[in-house]
Amino acid sequence: MKSKGSLVVISGPSGSGKGTVVKKLREIMPDVALSVSATTRAPREGEIDGREYYFITRDDFEDMVAQGEILEFTSYCGNYYGTPKKEAERITGEGRDLILEIEVDGASQIKRLMPDAITIMLIPPSLSELESRLRGRGTETEQVITNRLARARDEIKLAESYDYVVVNENDGIEKCAENIRDIIRAERNKSARMTYITDTFLDN
Ligand code: 5GP
Repeated sequence: MKSKGSLVVISGPSGSGKGTVVKKLREIMPDVALSVSATTRAPREGEIDGREYYFITRDDFEDMVAQGEILEFTSYCGNYYGTPKKEAERITGEGRDLILEIEVDGASQIKRLMPDAITIMLIPPSLSELESRLRGRGTETEQVITNRLARARDEIKLAESYDYVVVNENDGIEKCAENIRDIIRAERNKSARMTYITDTFLDN
């Protein structure tokens, strides 16, 4: 029997390069799946419903929460974001690891619910670097940038509550993704996750 896949939570302030790092990680670890969250925020240019997010109304989001269809959720800068439960259960049930790219509040909900989840905080090299990345993106208003920078400070303060902290140096996407890949690989060999092997071994 194969053991269940793990949840791999990756958090990091807006502008930490999470999206790019996760994309690279999936290239070098194609067996790992990425959870698609539901959100009430409007799609950004180029984002497609069902690919980056499921873009839904507040009413529909609240219904999903009430029906117990959301594993964790939060309100972030005025919008709801949450992880659909069914899909996460299906993928980990198949023995595949699943990445949740979520913020700190959701991460702590997951760790409480599932202490075996692997939590990784991705941080930029500095706050000033983060600010220039956010401005460089050119998709956000000044107010949104200010909100997100304030939120970033609060998020980074919580780094110590994560299992791992990985720094995303400038031009270091590949190295950063490899670092996370190594963490996931090492976690797969934790003795607690290998009991299905050791049990089979002893039974024969
Ligand atoms: P953005 O609007 O930039 O796509 O996402 C804003 C923040 O929400 C990011 O930190 C992102 O990781 C987080 N986020 C995305 N999906 C979820 C989710 O399902 N749950 C939680 N808790 N946070 C999420």
